[in-house]
Amino acid sequence: MSNSLFPWQEGVWQQLQQMRARLPHAILFHGAEGIGKTVFAELFAQSLLCEQPKADGHACGVCGSCGWFMQYNHPDYRRVRPEILDGEDAGDGDEGGDAGDSKKTAKSAKAPSKEIKIDQIRALSGFMNISTHRQGQRVVLLYPAEALNTAASNALLKTLEEPPPNTVFLLSSNSLDRLLPTILSRCRKFAMPLPSREQAMAWLRQQDVKDADVWLAEQGGAPLTAYAQSQSEGRELIDEFLLHLTKPGIDGALKCAEHLQKTPVAELVGWQQRWLYDLFSFKLCGTIRYYPRYEKALTSLAAKVETGALLRALKSSNERRAIAEHPLSARLFIEEMLLDYAAMFA
Ligand SMILES: [Zn+2]
Repeated sequence: MSNSLFPWQEGVWQQLQQMRARLPHAILFHGAEGIGKTVFAELFAQSLLCEQPKADGHACGVCGSCGWFMQYNHPDYRRVRPEILDGEDAGDGDEGGDAGDSKKTAKSAKAPSKEIKIDQIRALSGFMNISTHRQGQRVVLLYPAEALNTAASNALLKTLEEPPPNTVFLLSSNSLDRLLPTILSRCRKFAMPLPSREQAMAWLRQQDVKDADVWLAEQGGAPLTAYAQSQSEGRELIDEFLLHLTKPGIDGALKCAEHLQKTPVAELVGWQQRWLYDLFSFKLCGTIRYYPRYEKALTSLAAKVETGALLRALKSSNERRAIAEHPLSARLFIEEMLLDYAAMFA
């Protein structure tokens, strides 16, 4: 875990401190993906458990409680997240014991879950029934809340309706519209800001990211996803894909699908969704959000396409996103997607 706030979070941190005197039993941090909400919520969790928090509300970092917290084995803290996020940070001993190796073995046998399951929520009840260390608070951090499946949501709802004493739930979500309204109504919502372009650029430069402006635009201004993308391989493939989108056509679509069939399909759908969004936004109001470096191509393509066709393409792109994790054939999936795209300009 990171042990400090991101520079764009200082203001909201102070805002959050005002809630401390009468702490709600559930706080839902929400905002765009990739702006550091989880780090923020984790630091807040640590500060709630800290034995000597500083005047500005930050955890001291040196007391026994902070020590446990930073080792991920504080007895009054639980972190609930999908299995796929396990192993993201070293020394992850949520459940105690050395689960690391056995988890890895399980992983290779079966794809780790992307959902938060009911068993994970049920496992909290034991935790909530034992007394806390030095009669302090008990903190549960759950993220991303939209990963809760229906059964788990309902189980959590029961707990939120009858909150155990001295227990604070911290939830984090990238999209409130994917949460049950009943869950929303049980939480105090706390909006997390997107950093200004200057703040995000300064941070990316500190991380030595080359072409930081390109990454940041493509990720809609979210610095952490921009950073993650800049570190991933496959920039050339993405460029090939975008280049194809500038020159829609049947031959190109087939070639592109052949080259890119090993690329995670969900990512390609995401890149195309942003492209379609830019086309739509340029056509309607002359602005480009994600791909300013392709302004020329976007301008000429926007002139050739009907608004209705673009709307339909955006809709089917959303539908594709839902099934893109497990396509029967990646190559056919990409072909179909690109042929549909080419047909818009025919
Ligand atoms: Zn401390």
